[in-house]
Parts: sequence; structure tokens; C-alpha cells
Amino acid sequence: MKKILYIDLDNTLVNVQSGIDRLTNAEYRRYEKRLDEVPGIFARMEPISGAIDAFHTLAQSFDTYILSLAPWDNASAWQHKLEWVQEHLGADAGGPAYKRLILSHHKHLNRGDFLVDDGSAIGTDRFEGELIKFLTPLFPDWNTVSRYLLERTGTTPCPELATRSLHRPALYGGAVLAN
Ligand SMILES: [Mg+2]
Repeated sequence: MKKILYIDLDNTLVNVQSGIDRLTNAEYRRYEKRLDEVPGIFARMEPISGAIDAFHTLAQSFDTYILSLAPWDNASAWQHKLEWVQEHLGADAGGPAYKRLILSHHKHLNRGDFLVDDGSAIGTDRFEGELIKFLTPLFPDWNTVSRYLLERTGTTPCPELATRSLHRPALYGGAVLAN
């Protein structure tokens, strides 16, 4: 049976700054301390580099879901998160994210093996599986995260990645991540 993998949206699959960069000056001033409440901001965001390819790859080896929090005071974000997933990962039944979007303020209630998350949302620190904290020195990008996760399945996706792992045994800092 495949292990269950959850992946966060904001600052994990989604480049939040790319949406902020597209705000008008008026929007920026009006929502300065609460930019996640700007109507439509989420629709303006781009994927993080490598995120889409990584999701497709990981979805073949894991039972993969998107687990994201949407701002309570920005109803448009709930709609735009669904639309973002449909646009970037596909809306049809054959897509890797089809009906696999979970919007929650209680991430710790989801049972699973892994959660890839930049960790800013409440509840990630209480997730019962392994938290892979994205954008940290251990997991700075999607290449590193994918390689680490695929090694947890006992399979490597392609000879090129397998070779890289063999020749770089200390890539993850040795014992720190061994389990
Ligand atoms: Mg996040």
C-alpha cells in the first residue's frame, strides 16, 4: 500500500511572493498587514520552481493529497485555491490532484506518513507523521524533497537520481535524516 503524503500550497507548491508582486499600490496599502486577505490575490500566484514536476512524480509513488489552509476572512482564496490546483495540476479525473485538495485549519487531524510544509500554518507541528519542513537548509527545494521522499519508498524514479544518491551519501547530513 502506498504511503500517504500531504503537500502544502502556500510557500510549498505556490510562490506566494509572486502574487504579492502583482498587487496594485492601492491594494498593497489597504491590506498592508493582511495581504492574504486581498480579494483575488491567490489567483495571481505562480508555482514554486520544480513543484509541479515533483508533484507529478511523487503522486506515482505516494497516496498524495494537497493539504492547505485558506484564510477565514478571504472567501475568494477558497475558490482560487481550487482553481489554482485545477489549472496547474489538472482538473480532470486522470490528473494527480483530482479531488485531492483538502482545505483545513486543523492539519494535525489528517492522518498520514509525510507532510511537506513550510510550517507556517497552525497544526503542522502537531502532525503525527513526519514533517518535512520546506525551505529550510535540509529541504531547500523540490529536488531535495523528491529525492528524500522517493528514497523512503525504496524506489528511485530514474537512474540519474539513483546515481546521484550513490555518489553523494552525505547529501542529507548523514544520521540527521536516517530512519
Ligand atoms: Mg505554507
